Amino acid sequence: MSLSIQELIIEADRCVACGLCLPHCPTYRKTGSEADSPRGRIQLMRAVAQDILPNNSRFNAHIDLCLSCRSCESVCPNNVNYGALVDTSRALFIEKKSLFSQLTKPFIRQRNLANSLFWLLWLAQKLQLDGLVKKLVPVAKLLPQIQKPIVWKSIYPATTAKKGAVSLFLGCASNAFDNQTLKASVYLLNKLGFDVLIPSQQTCCGGIARQMGDADESARLIAQNQYGFDPALPVLTTASGCGAGLHDYLPNHKIQDISLFLQACDWTHVAITPLNQKIFVQDPCTLRNVQKSHLAVYDLLKKIPQADIQALPGNSQCCGGAGAYILTQSDMANTLLNDKLNAIQVNKVALLATSNIGCSLHIAKGLREKNITVNVLHPIQIFAKQLNFTGEI
Ligand code: SF4
Ligand code: SF4
Repeated sequence: MSLSIQELIIEADRCVACGLCLPHCPTYRKTGSEADSPRGRIQLMRAVAQDILPNNSRFNAHIDLCLSCRSCESVCPNNVNYGALVDTSRALFIEKKSLFSQLTKPFIRQRNLANSLFWLLWLAQKLQLDGLVKKLVPVAKLLPQIQKPIVWKSIYPATTAKKGAVSLFLGCASNAFDNQTLKASVYLLNKLGFDVLIPSQQTCCGGIARQMGDADESARLIAQNQYGFDPALPVLTTASGCGAGLHDYLPNHKIQDISLFLQACDWTHVAITPLNQKIFVQDPCTLRNVQKSHLAVYDLLKKIPQADIQALPGNSQCCGGAGAYILTQSDMANTLLNDKLNAIQVNKVALLATSNIGCSLHIAKGLREKNITVNVLHPIQIFAKQLNFTGEI
């Protein structure tokens, strides 16, 4: 939600400075600095909004270091809407012309352009030219394995007696790096009797633009999604980062995380192959603190006979994979990632389920760098495999 300056001041005034949120804030825990705590940031945002403090580089640095994980919001006894405060401050006060946002904007705006790029990258990878690409464009080293791009149909009809219809949100990163999860979602929904609609007008959720303070671009993308999705149908998301943004900014649409939707379905007559394995679940902040549906992931995975579902210790702390944050605040992103990698090693994790592509890519990158072998998968992929999903729809 975006606020006016006056609304920002009123909302910030609702913070009673109790400090209960401080131990839950990852940046405060790492820096010990009040200015990098939720309470400190709220005071700074209010002071800048009231022209008591200047909007300078020091203020920008404290706001930029915030992960928007919203752990603070979820424990605040006064329900201060920290998400709206930080989104608004980024929109009103933060410099918008970052190189990252300028470079990514055309690809985010035009899905066809992004698709063409991913076809090229996939072909380069297939022809083993990706090493050359990474030499020529060093930032390409950050890219994970590109999955073969998909030309999506507008509808995938139910494969059993029809129970209803849903829309599926693709997302930019999920479509490029995790389209197996999108395919697995279509497979499961069809198997349960749901037609899956994939509106071609859909676009980016606007999260990256919002994070970079580009409220106009974010609003433009949200408006396009508002037009693209039928508000009468559930809009299912597989990346909780996108789901959280759509949940906040498309209040008249039925935005739901795919695991929440699926765990509530009737599975009585569906055969699920047992999996005698421990599955650790990483809770993305956006699923836990914004969509508040992280428990649905556990409930869904528990439907797999013999599977032992465990929460990854330290789940309440962000992994640092907060969208563009991994590029703009790489030191803090890596510090938080190390905590996650330690938890993975200490607990001898072999299979990790996470519902956000940002977390998944960030954690997988850390694992690769440390030569730790862990299968990091979206819970829907794990679940679909136990229902004979072969990767094709
Ligand atoms: S818990 Fe809420 S009221 Fe207390 S300091 Fe944090 S934001 Fe302010
Ligand atoms: S959103 Fe996260 S990083 Fe930002 S102030 Fe709140 S708890 Fe701290």
